[in-house]
Amino acid sequence: MKSFDNTTASRDVAHILHPYTNLKKHEETGPLVLTEGKGVWLYDDKGKAYLDGMAGLWCVALGYGEERLVAAAAAQMRRLAFSHLFVSKSHEPAAHLAEKLIAIAPAPMSKVFFANSGSEATDTALKLVWFYNNALGRPKKKKIISRHKAYHGVTIAAASMTGLPLNHRDFDLPIDKVLHADCPHFYHFGEAGESEEEFAARMADNLDKLILSEGPQTVAAFIAEPVMGAGGVIVPPRTYFDRVQRVLKKHDVLLIADEVICGFGRTGNMFGCQTFGIEPDMICVAKALSSAYLPISALLINKKIFEAVREHSDRVGTFAHGFTYSGHPVSAAVAVETLAIYKERDIVGHVRDVAPRLQEGLRRFAGHPMVGEVRGVGLVAGVELVKDKATRAKFDAAQQVGPYLVGRAQQHGAMLRPLPGDTVAFSPPLVISTEEIDLLVERFGRALDDTAAWLAGS
Ligand code: PLP
Repeated sequence: MKSFDNTTASRDVAHILHPYTNLKKHEETGPLVLTEGKGVWLYDDKGKAYLDGMAGLWCVALGYGEERLVAAAAAQMRRLAFSHLFVSKSHEPAAHLAEKLIAIAPAPMSKVFFANSGSEATDTALKLVWFYNNALGRPKKKKIISRHKAYHGVTIAAASMTGLPLNHRDFDLPIDKVLHADCPHFYHFGEAGESEEEFAARMADNLDKLILSEGPQTVAAFIAEPVMGAGGVIVPPRTYFDRVQRVLKKHDVLLIADEVICGFGRTGNMFGCQTFGIEPDMICVAKALSSAYLPISALLINKKIFEAVREHSDRVGTFAHGFTYSGHPVSAAVAVETLAIYKERDIVGHVRDVAPRLQEGLRRFAGHPMVGEVRGVGLVAGVELVKDKATRAKFDAAQQVGPYLVGRAQQHGAMLRPLPGDTVAFSPPLVISTEEIDLLVERFGRALDDTAAWLAGS
């Protein structure tokens, strides 16, 4: 094994099993060790600065070094470092946070279940779908429909709902009862001569056919991200969610909105549901809920679901689900403070003000021979790289064109993320300024030119 001059890097390579990493390559390259963050900037152990164009993993909404969140955590740790919510225990931060979430939810919600990650929230959503239908005496109504290219996390249920091949391959997933409907990406799947609305109608029609072929009495729920994130920053085609919701209502199928990325301002509204007119029965939130300062997620459920679950818990003796750290008081206190800051600083207004700078800045690359599509809304965007602009043919995955570009951007001091299919993702902290957006776009442009030169030479 190669040795590294830096102690952290050596310890890392010797001991960490890295998430989402080519483990063999990692032993050669070693890690990039980050040591500090301030605002939208990250610094590595050599003092090099990076503009964080991804807010970590779509999550550090308020940027780094927000002292109010540090103070909220420290104060709560001193007062009550831990207490749980099992068997009717409670504490102020969780109760306060639940009240706030219900108040700002984009559709009428009744109760909040707390967890620690997005995966735990989506996993819990599926368990609740099953518990709910058992409560109603509908033991056959258990299937959940997700979509190809969806991302809902990595636990067994969440990874099953995820619609990306690498999350299933050799993990023996997906589990049964999880189905995948069409990915509503007009750029790739729209047919010749089809308008965006016609495409949306076809997507909804195919969903209807899928439910009918499975039998509506067996289909319980549909889960969707308002904007598909990790699958490629795919913005739904116009009228898609209206049409899909009509199909779901017709067949009495619950709708779960996965707002793990979109929630708390990312799309220019507090929730992606508001941007796309979605009225869900359950909502999953995480990431920006605490601006990622501590792990916390939540599942919001409506009254219809809560009432059935409440009655069933009485019948069977308890609602036998919960994590030790469900509603952890320190995470909850940080989340309460995060929501207060969003309101005081009108974070949604700020996103609306600066978003055109990012969206228009990136669209300036639309004519580049390697750029197939530039897409996005609010402060989330994707630039898809293609081998052939006319046919929309992709590069061979083995060429690693997206990762190469992101590596070059890193050299130029911008953190971006390559998604499957060579889409480069942008999801900067929501507090980013227009000057910082310009810098991010400029550094991306340099990386794009480097990549074109590399391909021309290879
Ligand atoms: N849902 C969505 C839409 C996500 O983007 C993610 C993570 O990126 C998850 C769920 C899973 O969240 P976590 O990684 O916190 O488990």
